[in-house]
Amino acid sequence: PLPVIAVDGPSGVGKGTLCSRLARSLGWHLLDSGAIYRALALKIIKDALVDADEDDWIQAATELDLHFEVDADRGTRIMLDGENVTARLRSEQCAKVASQVAPVAAVRTALLHRQQAFLKPPGLVADGRDMGTVVFKNAPLKLFLTASATIRAERRYKQLQSAGVDVKIRDLLKDIEARDQRDSGRAVAPLVPADDAIVIDTGDLSIDKVYELAMQLVHDNL
Ligand code: C5P
Repeated sequence: PLPVIAVDGPSGVGKGTLCSRLARSLGWHLLDSGAIYRALALKIIKDALVDADEDDWIQAATELDLHFEVDADRGTRIMLDGENVTARLRSEQCAKVASQVAPVAAVRTALLHRQQAFLKPPGLVADGRDMGTVVFKNAPLKLFLTASATIRAERRYKQLQSAGVDVKIRDLLKDIEARDQRDSGRAVAPLVPADDAIVIDTGDLSIDKVYELAMQLVHDNL
């Protein structure tokens, strides 16, 4: 079977950075599963379905016209209904609506094969919440990153500050805690480490250190 590294954990824990570095250095494909949930959220926002029935969300998930255009030089462009929405997906609003529709079991099922289709030779690094528990249950290497909500809020704050975005750290912390609660408390695919996942607390670790640790595990396990 083709190798998969499943990387799960809460928002803001540094999965995205780790996964893109791993994928780049291994020359493997990258799945940002959160972007798929965010794209569905954006579609639901655009079509004014936020307050609609679950059935409408399920239909939107089933019919989602979403493509990832991978370009080695310019990075990946995420196309929704033929439009480049890469930047828009990063908004807090998309994240919030994503975590509101993500608990619906049929929504998750509708998005399952789309995620599994990312597994192609020579291998895949998969970033999400349920990569190791649901989508790639048989992954030979599963990492679960953790860090306290305070630390994640501080990291996000620094990121936004250096990007010139003015935010209050208290608001960031509130958003993170609300999303944690929705992601961990849901009945379907709750955010928990797989039984065979290696849990890494990134609280005291630099991004470089987490990457080194992960690379070591890749070489030991794959
Ligand atoms: O990872 P990201 O912050 O982009 O994910 C946005 C939201 O999408 C998460 O808070 C979660 O509710 C949902 N999600 C999920 N399963 C995944 C990835 C994301 O439920 N594999």
